[in-house]
Amino acid sequence: MRTDLHRYLDTPLAAVRNLGILAHVDAGKTTLTERILYLTGTTHKRGEVHDGTTVTDFDPQERDRGITIFAAAVSCAWDAHRINLIDTPGHVDFSDEVARSLRVLDGAVAVFDAVAGVEPQSEAVWRQADRYGVPRIAFVNKLDRAGADLDTAVESIRERLHPAPLVVQLPIGSEAGFTGVVDLPRMRSLVWSEGRETVEEGPVPEALRDAAEGRRRQLEEAVAELHPGALEEFCAEGTLSARTLTAALRDLTRSGDGVVVLCGSAYRNRGIEPLLDAVVAYLPSPLDVPAVRGTRDGGEQERFADPAAPFAALVFKVNGTATGRLTYLRVYSGTIGKGETVWDSGTGRTERVGRILRVQADRHAPLERAVAGDIVAVVGLKSARAGSTLCAPGAPLVLEPPTVADPVVSVA
Ligand code: GDP
Repeated sequence: MRTDLHRYLDTPLAAVRNLGILAHVDAGKTTLTERILYLTGTTHKRGEVHDGTTVTDFDPQERDRGITIFAAAVSCAWDAHRINLIDTPGHVDFSDEVARSLRVLDGAVAVFDAVAGVEPQSEAVWRQADRYGVPRIAFVNKLDRAGADLDTAVESIRERLHPAPLVVQLPIGSEAGFTGVVDLPRMRSLVWSEGRETVEEGPVPEALRDAAEGRRRQLEEAVAELHPGALEEFCAEGTLSARTLTAALRDLTRSGDGVVVLCGSAYRNRGIEPLLDAVVAYLPSPLDVPAVRGTRDGGEQERFADPAAPFAALVFKVNGTATGRLTYLRVYSGTIGKGETVWDSGTGRTERVGRILRVQADRHAPLERAVAGDIVAVVGLKSARAGSTLCAPGAPLVLEPPTVADPVVSVA
């Protein structure tokens, strides 16, 4: 049965990343999302926030306001992985929606402004992500701005959010002269030249060699302090290999004991490739996260991302679009095929799944089946609401409702 089901997995589950981008309004989430979609070939036209052509923002009201209010999920490909990008609202007013999207993520990129550092709303969303145990990478954006400073931003992360920021890059140049980064685990430079679409990899510039070696040493010490395996190697060898460093950074990200920090400028297309590499290297796949819990006949059940288990999915978003009513699902276990029937915990009724779609920005790719771990949109469900569980009629299950997030910190 398993072999047969795996036919429907166009990407192995281990290579799927269900990713959210968390940010304070204005930190650059929309711009970053656009750049990711462009770079991964999902869109061919670069959307700009100011002209209202951004592809993640389906709603005209949203385009007018230039902010992302409603979550939408978009799938894109990077380095033989599929990244399902779940857009999360940055406004604390929409915290129910933030809570629902956090629930279906396996990992997130938290975006900060390199001038402002940690802002009250980024702190509020960070705390919510803590509650849902979402592993995170930090991206310090807008390094091209006057007054931008990675070190100060990292200090504000350390003071306000997490005691263990693990900075894996050293910027090359600053403000308008910010042209690239030294990748500290591999001790290579990545430089984006003006007008070029691609990044150039090369040796660490001579002028930055001492600084890069010092930063690499700091990173190794910080990692060794948090990770027993790395500590052992550090004590024995006096240094950490790139391989051990990467493996330890992955473990620390997934356990939440450390936060990898990268930097760039979304607006100027700098830093996006290494960010996607970090998403793939450090953030977990659906197979690496704990089982989801639910109740069935008053008893508790756990469901792992197993395609052979009974079907269970959570509705996290319903959108009216030109294609029809799109119901966004995170499939937690089993599979669902088009034309099959599901039981809806919200209405207590069964409904038929019409089409199943993989949403790729403005295009919708039809799928025969959706499999555990995946995020898809379904057409044909008339009454399913956000927060409802959909499951196999013979195996009713109610996934734990998302805890409605309290305003965790007061927003000044
Ligand atoms: P969101 O509210 O977090 O979605 O932020 P947006 O992507 O809408 O960006 C807010 C503003 O910051 C826009 O005017 C962007 O053009 C600008 N912006 C985004 N990224 C950068 C960057 O890397 N550098 C600079 N200088 N501006 C940026």
